[in-house]
Amino acid sequence: MRDGFSKAIINSLAQRAAYTCSNPSCAQVTIGPLESSLIGTVNTGIAAHITAASLGGPRYNNAITSLERASIVNGIWLCSYCANLVDKDESKYTVSLLKSWKEQREMRASYSQSGYTSDNGYLSKIKIKNIAKIINEQHIYFGKNTIIVGANATGKTLICEFISSLYDKKHLERWRNKRDSTNQENSFFEIEFFADFINNITIALRDGTISYFINGLQSPLIYSPYIVQYINKPFVYELSSREGLIKQFSSYFGLTADEFINLIDVIGKTSKFFLDDIIIKNDSLYVKHSSESCLIHLLALSGTEKDKVSLEIALRIANFQSQFKPTILILDHALTSLGTDDLNQVFNIFRSKSVSFQTIFTLTTINKTCNLESFIVWKLVETKQKVSAMRY
Ligand SMILES: [Zn+2]
Repeated sequence: MRDGFSKAIINSLAQRAAYTCSNPSCAQVTIGPLESSLIGTVNTGIAAHITAASLGGPRYNNAITSLERASIVNGIWLCSYCANLVDKDESKYTVSLLKSWKEQREMRASYSQSGYTSDNGYLSKIKIKNIAKIINEQHIYFGKNTIIVGANATGKTLICEFISSLYDKKHLERWRNKRDSTNQENSFFEIEFFADFINNITIALRDGTISYFINGLQSPLIYSPYIVQYINKPFVYELSSREGLIKQFSSYFGLTADEFINLIDVIGKTSKFFLDDIIIKNDSLYVKHSSESCLIHLLALSGTEKDKVSLEIALRIANFQSQFKPTILILDHALTSLGTDDLNQVFNIFRSKSVSFQTIFTLTTINKTCNLESFIVWKLVETKQKVSAMRY
């Protein structure tokens, strides 16, 4: 007897894969127009069985029931060529390989749908165990835009700093010994980065030493697969400092003054978010809102408006960087001064197609009047000195 899929399951498998072959090195689109007709379509994809539909077939598993064999869990969307290929060599195309193809294809479809061009790859998941108050292993999935909500000292900054640490190791220093030493279990922070294949980078902590693993193999050095623009405090101008405004602002973004001046000049022409113009003149920074005709000096702006200027520059830098490498903009406690209208404006920008980087931002509470459509929201909840992550 053959445990075939129902029509509904075949449709679901096709649509969840966005009608694209799940073999990552193929990725052929399996649907198109029927040329002889105005409304017809041609489907060249197949809902293939991961373990065979009938006894004697490839990867047949007699430990599962007929019902399980015909369920969506046992299906994968492939083009007809790949469907044939995977059945020819069972030892190469194993159950676990096909399952990972399926997971990756569906993940990619979901990222593409949220407006994220996934060609460069993106942060898809983290796992944390036994660091600070996060004792039990927690898994957090990321989308194009992810919000992490939690009270103070629940681990929001820990998450931001570990993610940032692949790009800039200074963020790791203070976590070196923040593990529960009475607990002999491993302390680790695993970063899953998805580019063609899922890549795992593990940062392991033990007795004050840090070691790295890539896809389970220890690696003496680590290179970040992504750029991080990490903003963790509002910009404050130090009047007493011997350094001028531009120098101070540049170092806030981790840039030299020359780089900063060049960037403002170049990126001001290509991407604009809240502000119409940013101009540097005589070691000062002026901005122009689209609603106003004149330039305003940065220091004449209110606190909230200053924060929006910083955010504007951070967005422009991230947008620029994302042309070359996957880029993550992390805003840790950086949006606290914004009211609902401003937050919604920021969220709309993050959602728009013109933003080609991932964002992660932290909040202590979630404002129910904000539009969180298409955002992934996680809540860090503390009970009995232990923090767990829950999908909001
Ligand atoms: Zn294929």
